[in-house]
Amino acid sequence: MAKKWDDSISDEHLHPESLMMGYGYKPEWSEGALKSPIFQTSTFVFETAEEGKAFFEVATGQRPERPGEKMGLIYSRLNNPDLEIVEDRLTLWDGAESATVFKSGMAAIATTLLTYLRPGDVLLHSCPLYGGTDHLVNDILPEFGIKSVGFLAEHTREDITASLLNVDGPLKMILIETPANPTNALIDIAMCAEIAGAASTEDDPVPLVVDNTFLGPIFQRPLDHGADLVIYSATKYLGGHSDLIAGACLGSERLIGPIRAMRTYLGTHVGPWTGWLLMRSLETLQLRMMRQAENAARVAEFLAGHSKVANIHYLGFIRAEDDQHDIFKRQCLGPGAMISFEVAGGEPGAFRFLNALKLIHLAVSLGSTESLAEHPGTMTHSGLSEAAKRSYGITAGLVRISVGVEHPDDLILDIRQALDGV
Ligand SMILES: *Cc1c(COP(=O)(O)O)cnc(C)c1O
Repeated sequence: MAKKWDDSISDEHLHPESLMMGYGYKPEWSEGALKSPIFQTSTFVFETAEEGKAFFEVATGQRPERPGEKMGLIYSRLNNPDLEIVEDRLTLWDGAESATVFKSGMAAIATTLLTYLRPGDVLLHSCPLYGGTDHLVNDILPEFGIKSVGFLAEHTREDITASLLNVDGPLKMILIETPANPTNALIDIAMCAEIAGAASTEDDPVPLVVDNTFLGPIFQRPLDHGADLVIYSATKYLGGHSDLIAGACLGSERLIGPIRAMRTYLGTHVGPWTGWLLMRSLETLQLRMMRQAENAARVAEFLAGHSKVANIHYLGFIRAEDDQHDIFKRQCLGPGAMISFEVAGGEPGAFRFLNALKLIHLAVSLGSTESLAEHPGTMTHSGLSEAAKRSYGITAGLVRISVGVEHPDDLILDIRQALDGV
């Protein structure tokens, strides 16, 4: 694929972590500033009226870009240099052709779904979904005549095909989250790509959309396994410092183009300041996620030897004889840094543990430099029915930890003293 920017030296491709500091930006645009400034502007000046006319012709789809024509900036709801740079940089991690960034992960998901789903269409999705996504798919979209069918990690292709026969309407999109939150259950991306492929035609593709927030592009690259679109809550690992809300969607230009157009009309774009913060964050994405994963391995090992801890859900503990081992080997590049486990004593035990933590913060969200702990049953997943919680393994004693970049000995010290009080 033709790259807009140089990403190699002597024909050798450079790694994304080497390109995050400069790719997509030229210091001569801004008085030689090494770092891109924040282009805090709502609108852009045209050199001539003819130029303004040409930009609008392309932006509104009246004609395609002419060879060599440089599409200019018009207005920051359409685009902005800080967003263009961060979008170019994001494509490198997932090997995507195109990317578009949003005000939040939910804005990315909602805009993508509204681009490709219409009344009467069917959306197939994995369960459990992130709470906000679940509400959108199962409570809001049905009011617009969009139906959904859910499946669990243990369901086979045959089970899923059979359940699709029970719903009236054409399958138009598959949306999966793998690993699932909070239990780390894995969904087979390649199997879902086969289901999407079987329902697709050349003119009418059924996109497989993967919410890759949990492992991030460092530990899972869904496009390599047949996914068509990858979505992130950039609030989590991509942003990584608990100081911004943003989202992203990546894939081929053919599929991203209409999503970007929908972003313009829904107004779900992100502002230049957040785009700039994301650029800052992407410089350390690999460094942070590697350290977080190393720390998580140490924490999980400690938890496994503790008498007050049971049922640890951690991808690093999948063994060769487990059902999920084959999927893990095929599609994950590492176990990531999300761990959930049961504390003895049910909800009171879990609450005593959470209340006693001193270094690890009691907060929802994940993927940040600081470690965060929460209680899925009464917090992130409190909206689920008791039956749904049971089927997903969300028990009263379950806590979830997003492991940060602190010294691992200090994390273990904190967890040990908090468990002592249970
Ligand atoms: C947080 C999260 C979202 C929503 O992202 P926001 O940035 O909070 O809108 C979507 N999917 C997953 C898996 C998440 O963890």
